[in-house]
Amino acid sequence: MRPARALIDLQALRHNYQLARDTAGAKALAVIKADAYGHGAVRVAQALEAEADGFAVACIEEALELRQAGINAPILLLEGFFEADELALMVEHDFWCVVHSLWQLDAIEQTALGKPLNVWLKMDSGMHRVGIHPADFQAAHQRLLNSGKAAKIVLMTHFARADELDSVRTDEQVAIFQSARSGLTAEVSLRNSPGVMGWPSVPSDWVRPGIMLYGATPFDQPQSVADRLQPVMTLESRVICVRDLPVGEPVGYGGTFVAERNMRIGVVAMGYADGYPRQAPTGTPLMVDGQRSQLLGRVSMDMLCVDLTDVPGAGLGSRVELWGKNILISEVASSAGMIPYQILCNLKRVPRLYTGA
Ligand SMILES: *Cc1c(COP(=O)(O)O)cnc(C)c1O
Repeated sequence: MRPARALIDLQALRHNYQLARDTAGAKALAVIKADAYGHGAVRVAQALEAEADGFAVACIEEALELRQAGINAPILLLEGFFEADELALMVEHDFWCVVHSLWQLDAIEQTALGKPLNVWLKMDSGMHRVGIHPADFQAAHQRLLNSGKAAKIVLMTHFARADELDSVRTDEQVAIFQSARSGLTAEVSLRNSPGVMGWPSVPSDWVRPGIMLYGATPFDQPQSVADRLQPVMTLESRVICVRDLPVGEPVGYGGTFVAERNMRIGVVAMGYADGYPRQAPTGTPLMVDGQRSQLLGRVSMDMLCVDLTDVPGAGLGSRVELWGKNILISEVASSAGMIPYQILCNLKRVPRLYTGA
């Protein structure tokens, strides 16, 4: 059997969820969109269901998968509905619905719902992606009340630059949000992971942590809460071939790496078809038999090469950690010019093995 696999530590996941909730001092929706950032949404939801205040996914397709797996906790759809005919299913399954645009408000007014919906009314406080304009927010809220179709309304917005701890933009967004919603008494939700970790004074009844649940930091600099996260996924495989690479000889497609001394290299059963980033250059850290080493040459579809010259005990069958508890996903991401989110979502083909259930 091919030795490539992703180990998912559900105990670490629960630790990170509790850390998010404790740090925020608020209720927390665990964000498990995109198959829980590559970790498997159903297994992640099952592992958190006993303690989580609820879950958030991108769309109804993702939410239905969870209900069909028996998850009864609240599930928020972060983009609400894409077409009005999803409303009936949303009501049937008790999904909570983000309303980010006036066309959605029109659709809610025009559709007969069997019972009222839980609505999270989203304001565009400065990210300028989705959300209702601050000047229209009070009127939209009033329309929702008048429609009689909202059971409960939570007011939300989303930060564009909370991962930049020295940016003034987050405080500006909070000020715009607070001013545009003044006079409305409702619960509010503003913070994603960087918001929870780096912006403790932002008001919150609900927070929406995603990446931090998986033990990855959204920051590109050290941060105190980040130090307390536990990596959830370990991507590992084994050395399947060992060879000597004489000085001057290239390795891999394109011959991009050429040995500068006589070297010993290992070939690892892991490639970009598994989601290991092809962009990762020579020098990207990985761990062989518990010792840090480096990637050599281009990543292929199913294989990559590792430097064994200074790991004399390593050889055929040696265990290789591509990322996990020792090699942080953020190290791999910065080496590859990517972000941890992007790498984790890309996981493919490798079987996922769960521990700590
Ligand atoms: C994805 C998402 C989150 C989670 O963001 P992280 O940075 O992963 O914590 C929170 N809120 C919204 C609206 C999202 O789309």
